[in-house]
Amino acid sequence: MKSQQRFPGDAPYPQLTYCSRCCMPETNEGVDFDEMGICKACRSSEQKMRIDWTARAEILGRLIDDAKKKSGNNYDCVVPISGGKDSAFQLHILVKVYGLTPLAVTFSHNWFTETGKYNLENILEKLGVDHIMYTPSRGLVNKLARKSLPMIGDACWHCHAGVWSFPFHVATKFKIPLIIYGESPAEFSGRTTYFDQDIKADKDFVKVGMTNSIKVPAENFVGDGVSRKDLNLFFPPTPEELEEAGVYGMFLGDFIFWDHERQTEFLVKEYGWKEDKVEGSYKWYKSVECKMAGVHDYAKYVKRGFGRGTDFASQDVRAGLITREEAFDLAAQVDELRPETLNYYLEITGYTEDEFYEILKSKRQNKATSLP
Ligand SMILES: [Zn+2]
Repeated sequence: MKSQQRFPGDAPYPQLTYCSRCCMPETNEGVDFDEMGICKACRSSEQKMRIDWTARAEILGRLIDDAKKKSGNNYDCVVPISGGKDSAFQLHILVKVYGLTPLAVTFSHNWFTETGKYNLENILEKLGVDHIMYTPSRGLVNKLARKSLPMIGDACWHCHAGVWSFPFHVATKFKIPLIIYGESPAEFSGRTTYFDQDIKADKDFVKVGMTNSIKVPAENFVGDGVSRKDLNLFFPPTPEELEEAGVYGMFLGDFIFWDHERQTEFLVKEYGWKEDKVEGSYKWYKSVECKMAGVHDYAKYVKRGFGRGTDFASQDVRAGLITREEAFDLAAQVDELRPETLNYYLEITGYTEDEFYEILKSKRQNKATSLP
């Protein structure tokens, strides 16, 4: 799928409305433009400069002190980590700055890159953190990757579901009520801003995450060789179990200024964190742990007319690093490139390449249906 002919500096699709400040199109899920035509992620980036981060850090300090007091001889919190940049930085802050004893928890998509494995082991080793990992079997992953495409329009349902659900299982089973995530949804989702969301522990936290991240519940994946038993850990704990353990969560990025570039530089220098090429991107730090990232982002491009290049270029516009016109040009260079990993995806799922495109095009909604 090639974009229509465009002049330098232009948006790729004239029929779509884009944020007037960055490159985010209306086809981005949950995107919301204000009366100036500006998206919430752009508003968040302005807020970031005005937020009293010292005051927020004090709130974080109090929440962490409370958690330490309550935890007794148990772990202080669960930290879901992927082996990516954000999780390495999270662990550093919690262990080195706040002196917490976390239990690190990883849902493995079973698509780890060598660099990703190294980064995960390296950070756990250097920070001396205990770790639990769940890796679903190869056969199950392949079946779920096939079902995922028509169900949610990308290859990665098992990862969305597992990343969200598994840490809650660990939190309830080991009675560690606090789960600490990294980047704030205000930073990346475009659904909320730093001032719109409640930064305190929120009872609906679990439910909200389930809705936004997973979309299709696990029961829909039962059938065609996948049993209810196979999906045990993809179903979240029951509301009663969560309630009994008193599980709540927070995002570190709501309390400390999140700066991807600076964090990456820091991790490389202090911990020997490694970057590597990531398909469909021009930055080598995000999703470097996953082989399938390129297919995930390319599927989004086919379905919604933008990929990870647009996400990153928009972030760089917000950070004042490039102009909106430069960002459109940069994104156009990577978004539409067919990832090599698509061959592997087709091999494990049995789809033909035509079927891959057909399924994704059938998932287009609203203005996305006008895409070529
Ligand atoms: Zn924007």
